[in-house]
Amino acid sequence: MSAIVKIENMNKHFGSLHVLKDIELSVEPGEVVVIIGASGSGKSTLIRCVNGLEEFQDGAVEVVKHQLEPYGRNQKALHEIRSEVGMVFQQFNLFPHLTVLENVALAPVKVRGQSKEAARQNARELLERVGIANQADKYPTQLSGGQQQRVAIARSLAMEPRLMLFDEPTSALDPEMIGEVLDVMRELAADGMTMMIVTHEMGFAREVAHRVIYIHEGQIVEQGKPADVFDNPQNERTQTFLARVL
Ligand code: ADP
Ligand code: MG
Repeated sequence: MSAIVKIENMNKHFGSLHVLKDIELSVEPGEVVVIIGASGSGKSTLIRCVNGLEEFQDGAVEVVKHQLEPYGRNQKALHEIRSEVGMVFQQFNLFPHLTVLENVALAPVKVRGQSKEAARQNARELLERVGIANQADKYPTQLSGGQQQRVAIARSLAMEPRLMLFDEPTSALDPEMIGEVLDVMRELAADGMTMMIVTHEMGFAREVAHRVIYIHEGQIVEQGKPADVFDNPQNERTQTFLARVL
């Protein structure tokens, strides 16, 4: 099996700021990788580089067999990757003027040329899967944050992604809604979805991740099985960080 994501010696700068340093990272099919690290360490930038939302300056990034090149030169790969990789952000970014069902059914019709009927049928099944089939005809603002985030996940799944990226998907939620979103992600993992997840939910990471990666100032300084990283961190930076958050 070949890797879903293969990053080799990737460097990324914002002007004079060297944000990602010599990143080497492969993600295998079905693998769940959780990325942890302090605010400003480069977690968001890393996963944004994986779906081409940010350009990098050198190295190689291969995602679902498509090769992204430095400075966003390979536009064709960018296009392919965006349609094969799902991304869920802290903010839900739903289309406010569309119903929940329309939000989920839109991209398969617009991007894939699926029939409206088929897309709506599939959207209903996805809403069922994330536990909000009964909200299909409401508008996003009528839903709680947790429900909106589940719609955002369903909307990504409608494109049948080969990889799902999550950037702090529960950070904007009231505490009582975090669990329902993590439950959906847990099920996705159990179904074999390949995922890269930035989160501060360490309990979830411990339970669901196959591998935890700790980033410090743009560098991967430690990675391993959750039990190893959380219970027996080798790097001093990791120890300091975990002592603060656990
Ligand atoms: P994290 O997600 O780990 O909090 P980010 O990837 O968002 O970190 O940011 C890493 C560093 O890059 C931070 O110092 C941040 O200020 C900087 N940064 C992020 N986005 C931009 C941008 N668009 N322009 C300039 N600097 C940026
Ligand atoms: Mg971030």
